[in-house]
Amino acid sequence: MTDRPADELPAGAEAILAECAPLVDAFAAAGRRLYLVGGLVRDLYGGTALEEVDLDFTTDAPPAEVKAAMGPIAEALWTQGERFGTIAAKVGGRLIEITTHRAEAYDPESRKPAVVFADDVLVDLSRRDFTINALAIELTAGTPRLIDPFDGVGDLRSQVLRTPLQPSESFSDDPLRMMRAARFVARLGVVPAPDVVAAMTAMNARLDVVSHERVRDELDKLLGVADPRSGLELLVTTGLADRCLPELVDGPLDAVVAARPDAHFRLAVLLAGHGESAARHRLRSLRHSGQVVDRVARLVSVASSVGGHGPVWTDGELRRLAHRAGAHLADVVELLGLVGLPNTAVAALRSALADLATRDDLDDLRPALDGQQVMEILGLSPGRDVGAALEFLQQVRFDDGVVDRDTAVRLVSDWWAARPG
Ligand code: ATP
Ligand code: MG
Repeated sequence: MTDRPADELPAGAEAILAECAPLVDAFAAAGRRLYLVGGLVRDLYGGTALEEVDLDFTTDAPPAEVKAAMGPIAEALWTQGERFGTIAAKVGGRLIEITTHRAEAYDPESRKPAVVFADDVLVDLSRRDFTINALAIELTAGTPRLIDPFDGVGDLRSQVLRTPLQPSESFSDDPLRMMRAARFVARLGVVPAPDVVAAMTAMNARLDVVSHERVRDELDKLLGVADPRSGLELLVTTGLADRCLPELVDGPLDAVVAARPDAHFRLAVLLAGHGESAARHRLRSLRHSGQVVDRVARLVSVASSVGGHGPVWTDGELRRLAHRAGAHLADVVELLGLVGLPNTAVAALRSALADLATRDDLDDLRPALDGQQVMEILGLSPGRDVGAALEFLQQVRFDDGVVDRDTAVRLVSDWWAARPG
């Protein structure tokens, strides 16, 4: 057990500690202890950029006392998580979460009616996922004090990812931790200890008991890391990828990593070679929203339709591409550069599109006439012929660009007259 005095608290801690003062006073006045925990403490000691904007605390006070202590100082209080011991609040404009020490597995899906609380922070820390996350700064002890029972700071320094207890026990308590391991490996550059890798490999099938939503959120976080390569590779080598995202196995990892850190865009890169329906299937099985499924499926479908295109684009082809890609045109081109076309071909496509955009409004590729006008001109009532005429005019819009109304009337009338039958 390594306790460090305040003067060894890392740079950057002071401003946060100052901000915590009102909370600390409230808990101290109630005779309770308050500890700063979670990713923020880890990132303070690991010297990584403080991505964490929310503050996580743990306390020996039961939730009812937490509410009572927070009442006078919080601008807002949320109690939805109270059953799990978590009270959320806004203090000084900052979102915070205070969770009563837990004595058992951290499992939001547990069917158990109530969480068992502990009065000892060490018990709470021992139930956390990794040693580097099992750090706490005690704030109510007078001088702030680091509590580091598993030498998480040492592991941060030597860049090792270890679990506080046996990895097999930890991952069986909550198999999602195996996915979290991949994220921390990628984000922090830590190397998983051999027993962590062994347990992930032996227990990968346990991921099946975790809800698709939790797996999805964790994968999104991993794919949102600037360089997710080491985490993705860990998923593959441990067999976890087969359980949650099999396309990673033999997938275009270089392209995924080279793509900007937008998780859903990276999924499109990963799935591009599999075609639209496989992409839809995968995203649905991960319980992505309809909006995400549609966006990724559109990118995959448009990109695969132009995969083998040569360097020369006609205006008609460019307009059709722009029409199919809709609002996602820039993403489609970027995606093609990552998985579909050689760099020179992508450069040619970009410049052809830029050139066409100076002559045509690619955001408005509607035909020159609408259905009402077509019906009046051709003397039709609503039905299939109107649709066919509009489709004809759409092809005119693609091939010839914008035509004036008179030309459109003439073209559609000629088309109607020449129509077979
Ligand atoms: P992030 O930067 O994503 O916020 P984080 O480490 O803060 O990373 P959170 O999911 O915010 O992760 O959780 C806060 C803390 O709660 C973690 O540092 C860890 O101690 C603990 N924790 C979260 N999820 C789990 C879990 N599934 N099992 C064990 N401990 C967990
Ligand atoms: Mg966090």
